[in-house]
Amino acid sequence: MTQINEGTLQNYIGGEWVDAKSSDIEPVYNPATGEVIAHVPISSQEDVEEAVKTANEAFQEWKEVPVPKRARILFKFQQLLVDHWDELAEIVTIENGKSFKEAYGEVQRGIENVEFASGAPTLMMGEQLPSIAAGLDSGVYRYPIGVIGGITPFNFPMMVPAWMFPMAIVTGNTFVLKPSERTPLLANRLAELLEEAGLPKGVFNIVHGAHDVVNGLLDHKEVAAISFVGSQPVAEYVYKRGTENLKRVQALAGAKNHSIVLKDANIDNAATQILNAAFGSAGERCMAASVVAVEEDVADEFIDMLKGKADDIRIGNGLEEGVFLGPVIRENHKERTLNYIETGEKEGAVLIRDGRKDETVEGNGYFVGPTIFDGVTTEMKIWQDEIFAPVLSIARVKDLQEAVTLTNQSRFANGACIFTKDGGKVRQFRETIDAGMLGVNIGVPAPMAFFPFSGWKDSFYGDLHANGKDGLEFYTRKKVLTSRWV
Ligand code: NAD
Repeated sequence: MTQINEGTLQNYIGGEWVDAKSSDIEPVYNPATGEVIAHVPISSQEDVEEAVKTANEAFQEWKEVPVPKRARILFKFQQLLVDHWDELAEIVTIENGKSFKEAYGEVQRGIENVEFASGAPTLMMGEQLPSIAAGLDSGVYRYPIGVIGGITPFNFPMMVPAWMFPMAIVTGNTFVLKPSERTPLLANRLAELLEEAGLPKGVFNIVHGAHDVVNGLLDHKEVAAISFVGSQPVAEYVYKRGTENLKRVQALAGAKNHSIVLKDANIDNAATQILNAAFGSAGERCMAASVVAVEEDVADEFIDMLKGKADDIRIGNGLEEGVFLGPVIRENHKERTLNYIETGEKEGAVLIRDGRKDETVEGNGYFVGPTIFDGVTTEMKIWQDEIFAPVLSIARVKDLQEAVTLTNQSRFANGACIFTKDGGKVRQFRETIDAGMLGVNIGVPAPMAFFPFSGWKDSFYGDLHANGKDGLEFYTRKKVLTSRWV
C-alpha cells in the first residue's frame, strides 16, 4: 500500500520501483492542512530515456499478447479498483483536497474507463467487405502504435490517467505516465494494482517530475503518441512540440464553462446544479461552471437562491463528513484567486458573495469560500480567464440569442449548459453554441467513458478526443488487406 509519509516517491520503470536519477525533489502538500505528505522527484530526461527504452522493449512482446488476454488483465484490475475504492478515494482527497464524496465519484469515473476498455476484443474488430470486385476481398485490421506518453493535471489524479492508460494498454501499446507533481501519490497506487492484476513488467511505467520529463517524452523518437490534459498554455506548447516531432498528440486544455438560465427554467434546480458545478471540487474542474448568463426576468430570483445555497455550504477538510467545499490546490493558487476577486471588484463587477470572508477554517489549508459576482461583462478579466477556483461570474441577458452570442465570444469552448423546459430553445442552443460537451438542466455535462470527452477552440488541440471510439482510434492504426484468390 502507498505510504503517505514525507519520504520521496519512486518512479516505476519495468515493473521495478526505482529512485529518480535526478536528486531534485519537491514537497507534496495536503492542501487541507498545509502539511507535507510526501516528496516527489523532479526526474530528468535520463529517467525518461530509461522508461521509454523499457516500454519500447515491453511493447515488442505485449503487442503479440492476444487481445482477450490483455482484456482479462483489465477485468482483474477493475475488480481491484472496486475492492480498494475507499482507499483510492482517500488518497485523492488527501493529495487534491476535494471532498471524499467527490473523490469517490472520481474513482467511479476511472473504473468506468477500465470497464469500457475491457471491451477491447469487440472494439478492436476490423471490418471486412468480400467481393469488392470479382474474386477480390478487402478488410481492415487494427494494431497498436507503440509507446504512449501520458501527461496529466492535478485536478483528477484518478480519472484523467484512466482516460488514457486502460485503452492504450488494452489495445497493445505500452505507457509512460507523468502524473502532476502536485498530486503524484495516486498514480503509484495504480501501478501496484496493475501489477497485482498481472500486467507484465514494462507495459505501464511512471516517471515523476515536471517540464523536463514532459520535454523528454515530446522529443523522444520512440514515443509514438502523447495524451495531454492540463492548462491552455501548456496544452498549446505540448501540441506544437509533439506534432513538430511527428507524433500523434491530443491535448485537452483549459476552460471557461458557460451556463444559460432561461426564464421558464426550474430556477431551484438551476441554482442547485450550478452551485455544485461552480463550487464542487473548489471550482478546480475543467467542466466547472464559471459563467452564468441569466435572463433578466429571473435574474434576481436566481441570484438570491444561489447565494442562499452558497451560504449553506460547509467548507473544510474533505475527509470530514458533510464537507462540500475543500481547499484549492496550493497557497499560490489561493493568492491568485484572491487577486482575481480583487480584480473583479476593480473592474466594476458586483460582489454578491465574498469567499474571502469564509477563511475561518482552522489550520493552514488553502481555503477560499464560494464567491459570486453579478454584472460581469466580456471586457473583464474575471469573464475571460480561467480562474479555476470557487469564483462564479453572472451576466444578465435579455434572451437566449444574447446569451449564445456572449458565450461564443470566449476563446474556450469546453462545456456549456442550458436550463429551460423549452425543447425549441434547447435545439437552438445545441445548434448555435460553441462547446464540445453540452448539458440540458444539468450542471456538469461530463460524458461517460464510452462517449468522446473534449472541447472546441482553445479548450482542445488535436483531432481525436479522449475516451469513446475516439480513444480507440487514437491509440490504434489500421492496415487494409486486399486479396484475390482466383
Ligand atoms: P498544468 O498545465 O499546470 O499541468 C498539466 C501537466 O503539464 C502537469 O503534468 C505538469 O507537470 C505539466 N506542465 C506544467 N507546466 C509545464 C511546462 N511549462 N512545460 C511542460 N510541462 C508542463 O495544469 P494543472 O494546473 O495541473 O491542471 C489544471 C488545468 O487542467 C486547468 O486549466 C484545467 O482546465 C485543465 N484540465 C482540462 C481538462 C479537459 O478535459 N480539457 C481536464 C482536466 C483539467
